[in-house]
Order: sequence, then structure tokens, then C-alpha cells
Amino acid sequence: MIKDVLIVGSGTAGLLFALSLKRRISGLNVRMVRSPKIGVISVGEATTPNLPPFLFEYLGISRRYFYERVRPTWKKGIRFLWGPRGRFDYGFAQALDSQLSALPRPNGFYCDEEFSCCDVPTALMRDDKAFPRAPHGGPDIHRWHAFHLDNVPLVSALEEFAVNLGVEVIDGKVVDAEKGPEGIAAIRLEDGRRLEADFFVDSSGFRSVLLGGALEEPFVSYSSSLFTDRALVGSWERGSDEPILPYTTAETMNCGWAWQIEHEKSLSRGYVYSSQAISDDAAHDEFVARNPKLTDQRIIHFRSGRYRRSWVGNVVGVGNASGFVEPLESTALMIVCQEAQNLTNFLIHSGLEPTPTIRTMYNTYFADTWDEIRDLLSLHYRLNTKIDTPFWKTCWNEVDIAGAAPIVEFYRENGPIGFARHLLRGHAANFGLEGFLMMLVGNKVPYEKRHTPTDAEWEIWNRHRANNIEVARNAMTTEEALSYVHHPNWRWDDEGATTH
Ligand SMILES: Cc1cc2nc3c(=O)[nH]c(=O)nc-3n(C[C@H](O)[C@H](O)[C@H](O)COP(=O)(O)OP(=O)(O)OC[C@H]3O[C@@H](n4cnc5c(N)ncnc54)[C@H](O)[C@@H]3O)c2cc1C
Repeated sequence: MIKDVLIVGSGTAGLLFALSLKRRISGLNVRMVRSPKIGVISVGEATTPNLPPFLFEYLGISRRYFYERVRPTWKKGIRFLWGPRGRFDYGFAQALDSQLSALPRPNGFYCDEEFSCCDVPTALMRDDKAFPRAPHGGPDIHRWHAFHLDNVPLVSALEEFAVNLGVEVIDGKVVDAEKGPEGIAAIRLEDGRRLEADFFVDSSGFRSVLLGGALEEPFVSYSSSLFTDRALVGSWERGSDEPILPYTTAETMNCGWAWQIEHEKSLSRGYVYSSQAISDDAAHDEFVARNPKLTDQRIIHFRSGRYRRSWVGNVVGVGNASGFVEPLESTALMIVCQEAQNLTNFLIHSGLEPTPTIRTMYNTYFADTWDEIRDLLSLHYRLNTKIDTPFWKTCWNEVDIAGAAPIVEFYRENGPIGFARHLLRGHAANFGLEGFLMMLVGNKVPYEKRHTPTDAEWEIWNRHRANNIEVARNAMTTEEALSYVHHPNWRWDDEGATTH
């Protein structure tokens, strides 16, 4: 029976696991060991909409405290500077895997030419607005939003929450691991200390000290689908003429793409590129030419892929230690939340004595999750015809779209209809068909069975878009919404009525 858990690494992944285990399983002893010399990766700042409910509802962290300590801004979706349209917005809603009841065909059939404001989130994005105005005048902060977060205050706040819950944090570098009948029996630190536990969480980042290191679990590479392997990262202080945008921007670059992430006081940019296609110096020159204000640049090396199994014996790898796909859809923390919640539930429901079938189920679930994201990201590369540099031409011809191939084939014959969801891999819980349709419609992929809407259909569709545009016109900017939530009179739902 598991009584003692030792977590190796105290980046975002290790901390979210520590909080989940400690909050949900009473009596469990949870310790973390981390190397201050190695530190945390300090990148990973955009999330998906599952993070806020995980923090505030599942972990029970106070919204007021979190907003004060971490000062997040809101992300309503991703603006892609991509494809033949030059730009399209992917909002956190069902814009395309959806149909108006008054119309005979799904929404995508009305988006061949004009593709914007199909729903309120994308109408808000078009106007750089964060939230509609609620009847009390303040922002209507609906549940389905994501965050832009600065990794440094995030990690420091999560550590404080974890310590307050009783998690012990030990400073030290793991240099060796002793194998035992279940996997790992103990780890050794550089200073000679030996730490035993019943169960180990490997959240040591790309080093994967226990899962990839001591246990030598094989790595499944995604390099035939995702060619990028480096990121040049920098930031600058926000000027008074630079509004806080309520979305992440993904901009096509000569040999990859660049993110723009919006913090309250700064902008973060990162050029994700393929080292096969461009040298570090040339990537730097291209990036700086577009972003002359950039300061504090550094290069991060990564590889996209996952370990074959993430739970082996008494070791579970999480976060970057279990897998990583390049950050086009900002999926890493999304998976960490799911891993933490699933593992915690599996431990609870097995009475802290997990069975082999539970481990297998966990491993299959997360292998499918990673592979599904790989499939979706590969389409971003295969379909982006915005520019025709040698890198992008290679992507059009050589990116392996793996499990997305049947969906693309179906789309080319039938258009943007929902039946394609039956072709999705496994549980398809994350992006669903919406994510795939977004890439197909956004990139104007041609299809055979076209629909010619009648005038009456256009009138209904255009009225729907006009209503969304009207909501956005009256909505508020991020700056205005932040001034509400940081006002002392503001009350979050978890504190009673929302007032200002
Ligand atoms: C270019 C890039 C962009 C990204 N963008 C996003 C994004 O937009 N959104 C998103 O969700 N994610 C993003 N990620 C992923 C993000 O970095 C991670 O999800 C997140 O920061 C969690 O990291 P981690 O905790 O797994 O690892 P880390 O932050 O690297 O933490 C590792 C921990 O292990 C410790 N450690 C390592 N080795 C040892 C040892 N031998 N002994 C003791 N301790 C050790 C370290 O000290 C540290 O505490 C991005 C990643 C990259 C590379």
C-alpha cells in the first residue's frame, strides 16, 4: 500500500501533482526533491481552458489569492497568422463542429470565404476584447477561458500552496537510483543522502531522471510529423501603445513559427524552428528583425515525442519527463492536469494499491492523448501555405499526418460535417473534431461536396454573426477586466456574489 510518495522535480508538473495528491488523499506523505542549481525550465506560459477549473475547483485554490500572486491574463484562443487566408482565429468554443438549428448544414459550409465571428469568443478576439459586460457592469468571466501565466510567479505560488498543505520540499540533486522489485527502491542525492519511498513521481523535466534514465523506458519520437526542435525565447516590457491581447498569436516564420504571449507588464515571444532548416544565428536575425524590442534571449532545445509508457512499476513520469510536443497548441499543462487527476483517482479507487490493469489503462490513455495531439499539430504544418520557403515546402510534402490522414481524406470528399468525429483516435477528449476542422477550414482545404447556401440561409448566418459582433462591441478589454478583478471590492464566485 502506498504511504510515502517522493516527487523528483518541483517545476509546474511536480507541484501540480503534489497538490493533487496531498489535497485529495488524506494521510498520504508527499515529499519533493529538487535541484535549485538546475532550476525550472521557466517557459510554458499559455494554457488551455482546463487549467482554471483544475486550479480553482479541483485543487480548491482561492481565485483571489491566485490572481494576486500570479497575475494571469486571459486567453480566449489562438490567432493563427497562417494559411492562404493570412489569418484566422481559433477560439475556445464549438465554432465548426456545430450547426445552427435554423440552417440545414453545419457552420463550416458557411465559412468558405468569410471565416470570423462564428461565435462570441472569436468575435471578442477580432475586437481585442476579453469578456462581455455582465448586468452588474463588471466582466462576465465565464468558465471557458484559459490563461497566460508567467512561469516564475506560477511556480513560486504553487510551491507556497503545496508547502501550506504539508508537502515537504527537499533541496538536492538526484545522482543515482536504486532499483527494487517494483521499479525504484530509493534515490541518492549528490550530498550522499538516500531517500526511500513506496511511489515515485518523476517530474524532472526533459532529464526524465527516473523514467527515461534509471528505468530506461524507450522514447517514441514524433520527429517524422513535427520537425521543429529549438525555440529562441525572449521578451520585452509592454509599452503604453501595446494593448494586452486576449489571445496567443502564432505567426508563420521562415523555418517554423513564433508565439506571442501577453502578460500584464510584458510580452513574451518565442521562435520555434527546425535546426535542420536554419542555423541559430539566422533564426536570431530573422526573429530580431521582426521584434526589435526583444531582450534577454535564450535558446531551448527540445524533442517532440513521448515515453512508451509513462507509468512503469512504482514510477510515474509527468510533465516534460513523460512527453512533450512542440508548443503550437500550448498543450503541456493541459496534459499535466489530466495526468494528476487521473493518477490521483486511480490511486484512490485502487485503495492505494494500484493493479497492473489500472497501470495499463493509464498508459494507454496517455499514449493516445499524446498521439492525438501529434496528429493535430502535424496538420498545422502540412496545411500551412502562407509562405513558400524551403522549410514549408518540405512540410507540405513530407510531414507525416499519421492518425489525421483519414479525417483529411473524409473532409476532402465530404466537407466540414460532424460525422468525421467517428474517425478520431481513442477518446479524443481534448480538441475533438473542432481542432481538426479548424485547421481544415482555416487553411481553406478544398472539398468536393460543396453546398451553395440560399439567400435565406445567408440571411440567418449573417444575422448570427452580427449578433456575435454586437456582443463584442459592448464587451471590455483585458485592461478594463483586470482593473475590476484586482479591485478590493471584487468578489469571485468562490467568495460569494460577484460585485464591484
Ligand atoms: C519552447 C517551449 C515552450 C513551451 N510552451 C508551453 C506553453 O505555452 N504551455 C504549456 O502548457 N507548456 C509549455 N511548455 C512546456 C512547459 O515547459 C512545461 O509544461 C512546464 O513548465 C512543466 O515543466 P516540468 O515541471 O515538467 O519541468 P521543469 O520546469 O523543467 O522542472 C523540472 C524540475 O526537476 C528538477 N530536476 C531536474 N533534474 C533533477 C535532478 N537530477 N535532481 C533533482 N531535481 C532535478 C529541476 O530542478 C526542476 O525542479 C513549453 C516548453 C518549451 C520547451
